[in-house]
Amino acid sequence: MHHLPDSSIQARFANGFARTVELICPQCHEKAIFEAHPWQEHGRQVVATEMQCSRCENEMLLVQLLDDMGSSKPGSLFTYPAPGGRSTMPGAQHLQALSGPLARSYDSALKLYNHAEWGAAALTVRHLLEGLAARLLPADKRSLPLPRQLEALQHDVDFARPLQDIAQLMAPDGAFGRHFDDESSIDKVTAEHMLELAEQLLQYLVVLPGEMVDLRSRIATAPVPLRRGSGVA
Ligand SMILES: [Zn+2]
Repeated sequence: MHHLPDSSIQARFANGFARTVELICPQCHEKAIFEAHPWQEHGRQVVATEMQCSRCENEMLLVQLLDDMGSSKPGSLFTYPAPGGRSTMPGAQHLQALSGPLARSYDSALKLYNHAEWGAAALTVRHLLEGLAARLLPADKRSLPLPRQLEALQHDVDFARPLQDIAQLMAPDGAFGRHFDDESSIDKVTAEHMLELAEQLLQYLVVLPGEMVDLRSRIATAPVPLRRGSGVA
């Protein structure tokens, strides 16, 4: 089940339940209005129905939680399968902090993708990568072509920086280390911070490299689109 914001509801039945919902259809990839069939109650906490894409007739399941009065509970509309389109990546606020224009390029790329403008989306992504490389590289390398800039990144960006200070945190007198002698001194906040630190390390050292290998193998095995005018019928 995928949460839909209440703002995606365009019209409601007299009983307050959603009648039309706007979302990106996972089948036709267009932003479309979905018309809900009459809702059916299941138990006392949930109503459900099906809804249909007004463009391609694709059907999706719609589920709404109820409040104590049996009315639709705000912020609790769900759909299955997930709508099409992509949402903003977690942590995008760090990109905004690094550079407002880069964050806007990323937003534009997402919007174009979500409007099924594949070519314009890909060109905007290239523009984003150029901007990112230019932001992270020293001035003398900013005018290099993108492939050279991306090569230069591995020498000019300090990839060890996220790993700094971790050893110190774990040392016997460090913020975490000093708790290990007396387990009972460890409170929720400390346990939470440790778990978060471990998750960040796992993301950086294990998840990111693994996902990049997966993506590269998907790129390598993706069907190659035929070029226009290549003479292949
Ligand atoms: Zn559709």
